[in-house]
Amino acid sequence: MQKKRVVFNYPPHVVEQPVISKLVKEFDLTVNILRARISPKEEGRLVLEITGKRQALEAGIHYIRELGVEIQSLAQDVKWHEDRCTHCTACISACPPRALDVNRQTMEVSFNRDKCIACEACIPVCPYQAMEILF
Ligand code: SF4
Ligand code: SF4
Repeated sequence: MQKKRVVFNYPPHVVEQPVISKLVKEFDLTVNILRARISPKEEGRLVLEITGKRQALEAGIHYIRELGVEIQSLAQDVKWHEDRCTHCTACISACPPRALDVNRQTMEVSFNRDKCIACEACIPVCPYQAMEILF
């Protein structure tokens, strides 16, 4: 089994198509919607976690691309500006999956983008605007 966290950017002509249910039914994938911003007849954005067998995942993503949906890794859309981070740790307890974590010995904060679910909980608690989510 493989898991991918991705962002789907929908063009208007795809927004009303049952894309997610096709991924589930035809490709036997499990789809967890982390965030959604979709309006009828307008462009839309979904942040998803997709789980399934490697070949099924590749086939499903190929199918989505063929529809004209632009797909990118979630990691590209979440930025930790390390140069702004003062390692104050204010964000640590706010981050549900512990994508932001602190080494208790050195008190250095680190960001693991593979764990991030783009929930935005860190944005309001960071006094230095060190976290940025580009959607
Ligand atoms: S967006 Fe959510 S999951 Fe990602 S680092 Fe911020 S609080 Fe953690
Ligand atoms: S709240 Fe902001 S400045 Fe403080 S540790 Fe987290 S990312 Fe760094």
